[in-house]
Amino acid sequence: MAEVREVRLKSRPVGMPTHENFEIASVTLRDPGPGEVQVKDLWMTVDPYMRGRMNDVKSYAPPYALGEAMHGGAVGQVTASNDPGFQAGDLVLSQLGWREGFTAPAAGLQKLDSRGLPPQAFLGVAGMPGLTAYAGLLRVAALKADDVVFVSGAAGAVGSVVCQIAKAKGHRVIGSAGGAEKAEFLRSIGVDHVIDYKAEKDLNAALAAGAPEGIDVYFDNVGGAHLEAALNSARLFARFAICGMISIYNATEPPPGPRNLAQLIGKNIRMEGFIVSHHFDLMPKYIEDLSGWVRAGKVTWKETVFEGIEKAPDAFLGLFTGENLGKMLVKLG
Ligand code: NDP
Repeated sequence: MAEVREVRLKSRPVGMPTHENFEIASVTLRDPGPGEVQVKDLWMTVDPYMRGRMNDVKSYAPPYALGEAMHGGAVGQVTASNDPGFQAGDLVLSQLGWREGFTAPAAGLQKLDSRGLPPQAFLGVAGMPGLTAYAGLLRVAALKADDVVFVSGAAGAVGSVVCQIAKAKGHRVIGSAGGAEKAEFLRSIGVDHVIDYKAEKDLNAALAAGAPEGIDVYFDNVGGAHLEAALNSARLFARFAICGMISIYNATEPPPGPRNLAQLIGKNIRMEGFIVSHHFDLMPKYIEDLSGWVRAGKVTWKETVFEGIEKAPDAFLGLFTGENLGKMLVKLG
């Protein structure tokens, strides 16, 4: 496996990215030097946060460099090792996705214990998106007994786990997603009231129908009109975990703020943004809880899979047009 393909950032998008922003190139991998391994990537993830990294702006994650391979989570298999801690056949988690393989220091890789899960689960339910759901709901929003929970982006990688954790803990859950297939999926995982926001244009009315007494927790994945509706519906001492605002990631002008932000005051709402990397300490506890929920049939997951590195841009673009049900993934090799 000396020759591999990788996806490079060719130009920076303005607004919604297009195929023109990406290029596919071939590279020859060097043999692993001391302390290095060679890895064949089996699965790579595409995530909404990568859109921000395509811009040349300072943020919590540095921008991708023009003309260089993009990167992100990947699960691969060691094909050659020059490090005593790894041997051919080991499954590893890396941040060297968007390519079919690589030679790199072993120190940057995490050896995976599959725990009976398929390897790609470590890019979704048992990885960063799953932990985001857990940390955002339980630590940031501080879920407590009898809370009514509203989740936007509810049929995606993060949102579907939020809904299921809240249901596993006995809460009433209102989930919003776009389209009939996603709505049906949400019903199948026990969401009490489903909003197909593409069909129901009046989000305030839709939310009032699902939560006549109002909501206590809002897990925000999309921002915009969903956030405004959540503020309108919030009860006294509601907590908002602001996880993402995908509805504005491709905006070319600063989007209008929520017009009803003043509701934070009278309702004593706590609204808190968070980045999952500040909550990695919860990972062992999350995996323990997740294993129990999976065994009990309380948490399940869906994947939308594109095949081949050349399809990685399609998979990524599909995040912004709602093509994924559950975790969006690219299968390699
Ligand atoms: P998803 O699997 O939810 O995929 C993205 C989904 O967003 C699409 O399927 C689509 O679903 C929805 N969407 C796209 N455009 C819009 C829009 N304009 N309005 C409403 N919904 C839209 O992605 P993830 O689960 O990986 O991420 C969900 C959110 O969480 C994102 O905002 C992401 O940035 C954020 N995130 C934050 C993290 C953190 O540390 N704070 C970590 C991980 C993710 P539909 O068809 O329903 O519209």
